[in-house]
Amino acid sequence: MIVLGIESSCDETGLALYDTERGLLAHALHSQIAMHREYGGVVPELASRDHVRRALPLLSEVLSKANLDKKQIDAIAFTEGPGLAGALLVGSSVACGLAFALNKPVIGIHHLEGHLLSPLLASRPPEFPFVALLVSGGHTQLMRVDGVGRYELLGETLDDAAGEAFDKSAKLLGLDYPGGPAISKLATTGNPEVHVFPRPMLHSKDLNFSFSGLKTAVLTAVKKYPETLTEDDKANVARGFVDAIVDVLVAKCQSAMKQTGLKRLVIAGGVGANQQLRAALNAAANHHNPKKRFDVYYPELEFCTDNGAMIAFAGGMRLKANPNLATYNYSFNVRPRWPLSELSAA
Ligand code: ATP
Ligand code: MG
Ligand code: FE
Repeated sequence: MIVLGIESSCDETGLALYDTERGLLAHALHSQIAMHREYGGVVPELASRDHVRRALPLLSEVLSKANLDKKQIDAIAFTEGPGLAGALLVGSSVACGLAFALNKPVIGIHHLEGHLLSPLLASRPPEFPFVALLVSGGHTQLMRVDGVGRYELLGETLDDAAGEAFDKSAKLLGLDYPGGPAISKLATTGNPEVHVFPRPMLHSKDLNFSFSGLKTAVLTAVKKYPETLTEDDKANVARGFVDAIVDVLVAKCQSAMKQTGLKRLVIAGGVGANQQLRAALNAAANHHNPKKRFDVYYPELEFCTDNGAMIAFAGGMRLKANPNLATYNYSFNVRPRWPLSELSAA
C-alpha cells in the first residue's frame, strides 16, 4: 500500500510517499524558517499562506522522485493536530480534496505520533517496547512505547519545552530564530567553567522537567556583562546552557530506563538532532556498569524536525494494523490541541 503523507502543523510543509512493503519511496520539504526569521518566530497567518503555495509543487516533486502517478496512491495521511489551526487546515484540506478527486481514503495523524515513530524509519530501527524521549519545539516528554498507539506518559515539562529553551536562550544571545542549532554550535567553542547554570529538577525524583528557570539564569548571566558580549562571552554562556540542559535530559532518560527496566531508548523531535545531547546519551548508554547499559536509537538527522515522511509512515503503520481506519469521509477536521493520551492503540 502506498501512502502519501502531508505535514503542515507549523512552519514546514512536508510531503512523502511511503510504501508499507518497500519503505520510504520519496520525500520533499519546504521550511519557512527564512520567511519567519525577520519576525523572530513563526507568524501563523504567513505560515498558512505559505503551506498553500508549497503543497502541490511538493506533491509533484515526490511523485516524480518516486516515479509514480498520483493514481497509484492508495491512501492519504495528513497531520490532524496538534499545531497551528490555520496551518493544519491547509494540509487537511489538500489531503481531503486530493483524496476526493482520486477516490482514495484519508487518515488523520497525530503529529507527535509521527515524531515518536520517526526512528523506525532509520536503517537500524528499534523494536517495541522502548522508552522515548520526545524533545521538540513544543514538547518535552518521556514515554513508554509498547506499540503503535500504545503510549504511556512517564513525565513531561512543567513549563518550557527543550526546543523552546534552546530558542529563547539563543535569542537572549542575539542569535537568529530558531536558535537551537546556532547556540549548540557556539557552545562547542565555549569554556564550561565560566557559567555553571542550575540543573532544574535534576533531583526531583520524578520524570518531569522544567526549563524556564534555566532561561532566566541565562538572562541573568547576559545582564551581568557591563558591555555588549564578545563572541567568547557568548560562547561561554552557550556552553553553560547546553551543558545544563543536556545533563538534565540525560539524567532523566537514565532514570526512565531504570524505572521501566527497558533496554531501548529512542530519541525523537528537533532537539534530537543536537550533537552534544547525542554524545552524552551515547556515553550514558555505554555505562561502565553493564546493568546500567542500554541501546539508544535516533531518527535520521533530516527526520528529527518536522517532515512528511514521519506522517506517511505513521499512516502506513496504522492502516496496516487496521485498514478500517481509512475513511472516505472528507469532511475534515483539525485538532490544534490534542493530547497524545487520547489516541487508541493500532
Ligand atoms: P512540536 O513537534 O512539539 O509541535 P516543532 O514541530 O516546532 O514542535 P520540531 O520541528 O520537532 O518542533 O523541532 C524544532 C525545534 O528543534 C526548535 O526548537 C529547534 O531550535 C530545535 N533544534 C533543531 N535542531 C537542533 C539542534 N541541533 N540543537 C538544539 N535544538 C535544535
Ligand atoms: Mg519547525
Ligand atoms: Fe514537530
